[in-house]
Amino acid sequence: CRHLVLVLGDQLDAAGPALRDLDPTRDRVWMCEAVEESTHVPSHKARILLFLSAMRHFREALETAGVSVHYRALDAEADPSLAAGLAAAIRVLRPERLILTEPGEHRVLSALQGVAEASAVPLEIRPDAHFICSRTEFDRWAAGRKGLRLEHFYRHLRKREGILMEGPSDAAQPVGGQWNLDQENRKSFGRQGPGMVPEPIGFPSDVITRDLIAVIERRFPDAPGNLERFDWPVTAAQARAALADFIRNRLAAFGPWQDAMWTGEPYLYHARISAALNLKLLDPRTAIDAAISAFEANQAPLASVEGFVRQILGWREYVRGIYWREGPVYLESNALEAHRPLPNFYWTGKTDYACLEASIGQVLEYGYGHHIQRLMVTGLFVLLLGVAPREVHSWYLAMFVDAVEWVEAPNVIGMSQYADGGLLASKPYVATGQYINRMSNYCRHCRYDPKEAVGESACPFTTLYWDFLDRHRDRFANHPRTALQWRNLARLEPERLGAIRRQAEVLRGDLASGGNG
Ligand code: FAD
Ligand code: SF4
Repeated sequence: CRHLVLVLGDQLDAAGPALRDLDPTRDRVWMCEAVEESTHVPSHKARILLFLSAMRHFREALETAGVSVHYRALDAEADPSLAAGLAAAIRVLRPERLILTEPGEHRVLSALQGVAEASAVPLEIRPDAHFICSRTEFDRWAAGRKGLRLEHFYRHLRKREGILMEGPSDAAQPVGGQWNLDQENRKSFGRQGPGMVPEPIGFPSDVITRDLIAVIERRFPDAPGNLERFDWPVTAAQARAALADFIRNRLAAFGPWQDAMWTGEPYLYHARISAALNLKLLDPRTAIDAAISAFEANQAPLASVEGFVRQILGWREYVRGIYWREGPVYLESNALEAHRPLPNFYWTGKTDYACLEASIGQVLEYGYGHHIQRLMVTGLFVLLLGVAPREVHSWYLAMFVDAVEWVEAPNVIGMSQYADGGLLASKPYVATGQYINRMSNYCRHCRYDPKEAVGESACPFTTLYWDFLDRHRDRFANHPRTALQWRNLARLEPERLGAIRRQAEVLRGDLASGGNG
């Protein structure tokens, strides 16, 4: 063929850059189900299913439009790696040129470049149009800056794109006069709970998905997670329906309850669109525009709309810029020199720490946890414990349906584990169990007490929090944004600190030997 257009599992947009000038009479599309490519530990069944089902639906749509797809299916032959699969396709199809949209992972990019080189076929890599800020623009913004703070980047993009801005273009101001409305958000549900949360729209499995469920259960019986609840969008039309459902039924309450958690409520007022965005079934601009239209129609308050735009225009674009700018060495960061193993219960959810049982149990069941569960429950615990960031990274990459390395790694290694030494987060996100108690109802169902750091009912978060401050005293005691926490540490009686240290030591020993504390 003339061009062999490579479409990876997270590039499922028929209008994407690589497919733009496809000539169905001379070109072919290559797709390959290489499940073990994206993670070195077994992936959650729902994550495998989501990728494969979305790929097969995409293939069907292309073929219906008259495009010829060279598709290497998982169940048809021995598992190929992406590289082996591509090399085999090149031998058969003898393309003049390979066309690829830039992938979302360093390793995939170099593997495909390696095959092209070895096969002596030119490889054309096109920028990914699904991002509002290109990699080059991000690097330009970052060049010469001392710190790469989200807030600065977000304001820069909002001005440049004229999103939620008002007034003359040379002196535009944020709508409502403020850039950040977080102080109106961050509420908890108090004792009464969230009441009736609108059930998000789900998408029942069709024949493609059902066939794949059988394949996955047969091929990966021991993979974590289950498929009973699988109802994620797997086509662009479903992704648009998921977005519309969120805008209509949950956006208005998104802002205030962004950080709240509640047993048995996996989604609350969150959008549930990250996987669709990451697979490119949905464009981030469509999501932002829909939220702004709801604001303009008085269907959602500014705090919720700005909060949502901040996540997509701000955080999502920012972490992608960081991922590519820092390069593969970023994955090896370990500024706090954490080397402990991941507790075994992260793979089973079997623990009597109620918050972790709920958050991990939910991930096993749905492949989903919302931001605060990821950051302040599953992430916080391993940060305080001192687990090796690389192990934490592997767990997050495997367990969430929306996990793709460019977004997962900066969130885990930078934001959650502070392993990049503060490049992404200005301070480590550390707290005692009291934070979890304030933001959820988990502690009410727990045999531990979030106020206690020592003794039989000591909350492991609270014990390990003080122990973390103690262990990292030298690094943070004079840090301007964390000084208060460390001043509180300095106020602890020496005997109490000694007891906390001993309790932490016993806890770490228990966890290392497979216990849950
Ligand atoms: P909502 O809470 O409704 O937010 C709307 C959208 O904003 C999301 O769909 C997402 O696209 C974007 N967004 C929100 N926060 C972030 C963020 N911190 N970084 C980038 N985009 C953001 N997101 C992933 O897509 N894949 C991951 O593998 C991933 N791993 C994470 C690991 C940790 C430790 C943490 C703290 C966060 C991680 N996130 C990840 C970010 C965030 O938690 C998810 O995007 C969000 O929970 C997805 O659910 P939602 O669509 O309901 O999002
Ligand atoms: Fe989690 Fe501690 Fe609360 Fe138990 S007491 S739910 S371990 S924060």
